Formats: sequence, C-alpha cells, structure tokens
Amino acid sequence: MTASFLLFILILEATVPSIHGWGLEGHALVVRLAESQLTPEASEWIKPLLPWFVFGNLTAVASWADDIIHDNSNHFDYINWQWTRALHYIDMPDWNCDYDPQRDCKNDICVDGALRNYSQRLIAADLDHIQHEEALMFLVHFAGDVHQPLHVSFAGDLGGNKVKGFFMNNSRETNLHSLWDSGLIHWRISHEFQSNFGLYYEYLYALMRNQTPTIHNDDFKQWIIESATLVCQQVYFDETNVTMNASAVFHLGNIYYMKNIPVVEQRIIRGGQRLGSLLNRLAANRPKSPASSPKKLCWGTITLIVVVAIELVVVILAFIGTRMVKRLKEKTTLSFSNPFMK
Ligand SMILES: [Zn+2]
Repeated sequence: MTASFLLFILILEATVPSIHGWGLEGHALVVRLAESQLTPEASEWIKPLLPWFVFGNLTAVASWADDIIHDNSNHFDYINWQWTRALHYIDMPDWNCDYDPQRDCKNDICVDGALRNYSQRLIAADLDHIQHEEALMFLVHFAGDVHQPLHVSFAGDLGGNKVKGFFMNNSRETNLHSLWDSGLIHWRISHEFQSNFGLYYEYLYALMRNQTPTIHNDDFKQWIIESATLVCQQVYFDETNVTMNASAVFHLGNIYYMKNIPVVEQRIIRGGQRLGSLLNRLAANRPKSPASSPKKLCWGTITLIVVVAIELVVVILAFIGTRMVKRLKEKTTLSFSNPFMK
C-alpha cells in the first residue's frame, strides 16, 4: 500500500460518512481515549508503526478499516478489501444473545476472530513492518466496532440495518444501526457540545478518569457478550417499550435518546480503556529482540529524500559557483589594475 493511497483515504475521511461501526467520531473517540492510556513504552513502540504522514497520531487511522472497503473512499482498490467486511461484526440468530463462536464465528471470520488474529499479528516476529502497520490499524478499529452493540446482533435484520425509521422528527429516514453508529453521537455533540468534538472528547475523558476500568484484557468474549446483552435488553425497545423490527417504521425522540446516550458513551469509554490496556500489554509482551524490524521506506519518503538531496546539491553547487566567480573577478581586477596608480 502506497503512502499516497493512504493519504488519499485520510483526506476523504473528513467528508465520507462511515457505514460500518461507530461513525468517524465514535471510532476517533475510542482510539483517542486509548491513546491517553498508553504507557511510554507502548507509545514509543506504536508511533513508528504508523504511516509517516499521520505523524504518530493513532487516532488518524481509527476508521481506515472502514474506508478501504468503500468505493467512495477507496475507488481504485476497494474490491480487494471486500473479504474484510465480515471482520467488523458478529451475526447471531435473531434474539439469541448467547454468543457461540462455533456457530457465529466460523473459521474466525468475525470481529472476535479479527481481534485475536490482529493482536497476534501485531507482535509476530516473523511479520514485516507493513504487516504490523496493517495489524495495528485493523486492531484499533475492531476494538471500537465490538463495543457498538449492534455489531454483535441479529443476522435477520443485518444488525439493525433493515430496521428503518425517523429520529428527532428529522425528515430524512435513518435505520437503527446507523442511529447507534453515529446518529445519537451527532445529536449529542451538535446540541450539547456546540458541535465541538474536542470539548466532547474532554468530557468523555473526564468521565473515564472517574471510573474504575473493567478491562477483561484477554477476554474478547466478555466484550462481545456485553454488546449482545445490550442488544437483547435495550437497543431494540422503542419509547413505549415495544420491540422495533424491520416490518415497522420507528419514530424515536428524546426519550430514546436520553435512555441510550449514556450507554453509547459507556461503550466508547470502555472501548478506549480496553484498547489502551490491550496495546500496553502487547507492547510489554512483544518479542524485544531483534527489535521490531527496521522501518522500510515507502515511496513517499524516498521521493522526499531524493528531492531534498537534489536541492542540497543545487545549493552547494550554487554556493561554489558564486565563490568561484567572485575569486575570478578579484583575480581579473588585480591583473588589469594599473601598477602605477596608487
Ligand atoms: Zn467497522
């Protein structure tokens, strides 16, 4: 993957809404909270693994795994990433909230398998720098996805995607999945935080600091069961406690919002705490020697080095040239000066 391709994706991130998992804000919040929890060791380890143009900012790649699979954010290559789609969620039989890996995550093709796989790959000594970089970007994203309750949900309605309706009297139709990905968060940020993402992050950070973390470090199954339980006990119940489904149009407003926004925030906070803790643990347990394989130079960096080198040579040549011309002038002046004139 070239640097320019990744840069292209990052630029598009600002404008293209994400469909899978928390939206841009949710994923960014999870990763930024996680970043705030990193040990100096983990931080030092992770920064060189990131693409150079994000300048060590882990949050910048939080939605990379979503962007690569969409035509509008990765037009030339999205076909090659379609196999990763099933890694973003777990589909269970409808109203069955007892996650069974053999039934719901065959061949590890689900968010559970992806979390385990990319945790291992991130520290695998036999993988190269690009593979570690990819594992890191997948891992930070899937740690967010698994905490969005509807990513551990029912196969029948595609995790709430087929359950359609309206939120806060908006004339534009939405669906339950999208509401949990981004609708509730957007409403919160725009109506209660003056559309200021930084302010909202500070609020969640303070909330996180006042809580005792419930990490369950190695236990991805626990993370999954929590999401599944929320789905069966809360997410699908409308404002009059009637179950929503794909054959009826929902109308949700302030009652649903007030009941569920604290849940959204707790899931984001917990995702951030757990991701931070997971990265710290991986940093501590990774094989230390030989130190992570030396960073391979990508084309962007090579081009930059060549341009700087050429500019340097031009400056040196110009400097030498100026000196030579100056000396020549001095010599010429001396040769032609009149020895009789004083
Ligand atoms: Zn996703």
